[in-house]
Amino acid sequence: MSVKIDLNLCTGCAGQEEAFCIKYCPGDLLAIDKETGKPYIRSERDCWDCMVCVKACPFEAIETRLPYQLASYKASLKPKVYKEKIVWKLNDINGREEIYELQTGG
Ligand code: SF4
Ligand code: SF4
Repeated sequence: MSVKIDLNLCTGCAGQEEAFCIKYCPGDLLAIDKETGKPYIRSERDCWDCMVCVKACPFEAIETRLPYQLASYKASLKPKVYKEKIVWKLNDINGREEIYELQTGG
């Protein structure tokens, strides 16, 4: 299981000293592709799906693909972090979407 980066949504964190996803990945697994200026994952098998990069991206360009044992291919789970809550968006393979909100207190 690993993350998927949508290069159309990703801005490469232009203007930042370091891209947020790269800065916060605890495994140092993300790096910038010198040709595109956008990130890629160096080793998918080393990613443990902590979702730190998913939460850190301000443009919702990274998502976690659920393994087929849990949900068929293309199902995804995406968190969006707000000051006082995290909103989790679950999409299944039939296009159904479920949203869960967790209050974090801010
Ligand atoms: S999910 Fe966690 S370990 Fe995997 S690339 Fe993102 S921040 Fe790194
Ligand atoms: S944090 Fe998001 S926008 Fe910034 S480089 Fe990473 S994927 Fe792209």
